[in-house]
Amino acid sequence: MRSFFKVLLACLFLTAAVWAQEKDQPKKPADVRFSPELLDKTIDPCTDFFAYSCSKWQAQNPIPADRSSWGRFNELQEQGEYIVHDILEKAAVERAGRTPAEQKIGDYYASCMNETAIEKSGTAPLDPDLKSVAGLKSKADLTGEITRLHRKGVNAVFSFGSGSDFKNASQIIAELDQGGLSLPDREYYFKDDAKSVELRQKYVAHVQKMFELLGDTPAKAAAEAKVVMNVETGLAKGALDPTSRRDPQKIYHKLSNQELAGLAPNFNWNTYFDGVAAPHFDSLNVVEPDFVKQMQAVIDSVSLEDWKTYLRWHVVHDNAAILPAAFVNEDFDFFGKTLTGAKQLRTRWKRCVEYTTNDLGEAVGQIYVERTFGPDSKTRMLAMVNALEKALGQDIQNLPWMGDDTRKQALVKLAAITNRIGYPDKWRDYSALEITRGDAFGNSQRANQHDLQRRLNKIGKSLDKRDWPYPPMTVNASYNPNQNNITFPAGILQPPFFDNQVDDAMNFGAIGAAIGHELTHGFDDEGSQFDADGNLRDWWTADDKKKFEDRTSCIKDEYGNFTAVDDLKLNGKLTLGENTADNGGLRIAYMALMNTLAGKDTAPIDGFTAQQRFFLGFGNIWCQHRTPERTRMLVTVDPHSPARFRVNGTVTNMPEFREAFHCPAKAKMVSENACRVW
Ligand SMILES: [Zn+2]
Repeated sequence: MRSFFKVLLACLFLTAAVWAQEKDQPKKPADVRFSPELLDKTIDPCTDFFAYSCSKWQAQNPIPADRSSWGRFNELQEQGEYIVHDILEKAAVERAGRTPAEQKIGDYYASCMNETAIEKSGTAPLDPDLKSVAGLKSKADLTGEITRLHRKGVNAVFSFGSGSDFKNASQIIAELDQGGLSLPDREYYFKDDAKSVELRQKYVAHVQKMFELLGDTPAKAAAEAKVVMNVETGLAKGALDPTSRRDPQKIYHKLSNQELAGLAPNFNWNTYFDGVAAPHFDSLNVVEPDFVKQMQAVIDSVSLEDWKTYLRWHVVHDNAAILPAAFVNEDFDFFGKTLTGAKQLRTRWKRCVEYTTNDLGEAVGQIYVERTFGPDSKTRMLAMVNALEKALGQDIQNLPWMGDDTRKQALVKLAAITNRIGYPDKWRDYSALEITRGDAFGNSQRANQHDLQRRLNKIGKSLDKRDWPYPPMTVNASYNPNQNNITFPAGILQPPFFDNQVDDAMNFGAIGAAIGHELTHGFDDEGSQFDADGNLRDWWTADDKKKFEDRTSCIKDEYGNFTAVDDLKLNGKLTLGENTADNGGLRIAYMALMNTLAGKDTAPIDGFTAQQRFFLGFGNIWCQHRTPERTRMLVTVDPHSPARFRVNGTVTNMPEFREAFHCPAKAKMVSENACRVW
């Protein structure tokens, strides 16, 4: 359930009066719990289990105007937002005795909320960057300018950071990756269907408007927008698509610094690495060498004037969220309305909560955890994880297609998985980050710089498994193949996922299936290429690998035939890992429930057997819907299938579902050739 979306890093806009008047409140935990009232009894669960589980919920919970999708996850996220809002409002009150963390999160949030100051500053905060870009004298100056902009969080040309060495996962190395694009993925620059062509036209029109807001004439801005499109298209040519980026072999190229210099000889890498203050290193992972070659080709072929235009665009675009309302609204018009189908900008306080969380997540998270997460939650969750791990162990022991050598290795890997529940053991240190009240723009840039430094400081060091990828209020969960661990933050350990007031069946169908999903990621088409220590190493016999691939092909073909929107089918290869995890996860959660219920009296509740309630719990957490625009975008970039197929595709492959609901053999939710990997 890893989220892949690049979120804006700074704050946006609306009047303080608006949020003060706002009456809406999030649903209480009791209201997001499963209720039999939500089931659509006019629909046969054997025909369309998703509609049976969720059509009434969808009718009662339309997508809010300021969203492009809405679901059970979002209801839970919204509860968290209100809690964080309260934390930030209190921290924002200037008083003696605020802790350093309260000062930072409170003043960051207050600065973000201070629209009057932001409006008054206008574009002045951009001036130093715009002046610096305008002052470039030759292409040799590009290295220094890109260095300077990267330190402020501007996404210019490529990206640089750190990550585990795939073949020596306990070691952190430097990582150079593609970057510098503004549309969600390379395909957006090349697809030639009518919708894609229209979207590019709208994007160019948007870039033009942003230049006009900077004071350029319409004619000049129009020419500049074409230049931006041209440079980004050139960079996109070298970029890898999201499906290829799921293949670890395609994104791991450990090169010496000299080899990197050979790919882009006119870019002064030493100046760059020194400039961003990276620790010394001799080799790094060049994620996509072809991108670096292409980047050099674009640097050579594009004029200095056009490079200035491209960099100027990224300065304004990447900072749009903390600029005056005219910029925020124009940015939303394209990236919100056109791209995702949202109708209305989110209320300012919600955006400021989001930006504060993005930049100071663990400082906020520490207070959030003190308020919401007790030790008993952790104990109960660990017991469930243990039950799921035991079930996956039984599953691996009994798989009919796997030979003993591979089986042994798979069990070693399973036993080595570590579990991170609730919140990190070590909190991020923000003490070196200066947050100044009234300086929303500066706060955002300094936070970006601080975070880049944090990532770069890891280079050459051992992996610290105490580092979490996201703050504890996140409603999500993940598996990390380089660390062979699962992470379940406090944010998701609440109803309807995890609920101490419902029966085991419901919990195993909800959070149990989510735990099973993350564990199965260790054994999907991507995760299975990493060993127990997180190293990219093949531990499969050739014969078993072939059988594994035959089985994953079944899932790839099944989901590749689902239609996401209009005539657009799902990408079976892009979504293969997530679909494998959904199928394996639900199966082992079911096994774990059966182990738990063995010998216990399980009378029906609300007229449903424990087996039925397990599937009802699963259907319930996936209730959601999206705008057609968002679905179209996600089909290209999201490795997850839309909720309808996460539910229907998965239950169709489970004979246990058929038994639970007594479905006839010819029913739609019964597959003659059910796919099964794990
Ligand atoms: Zn997943």
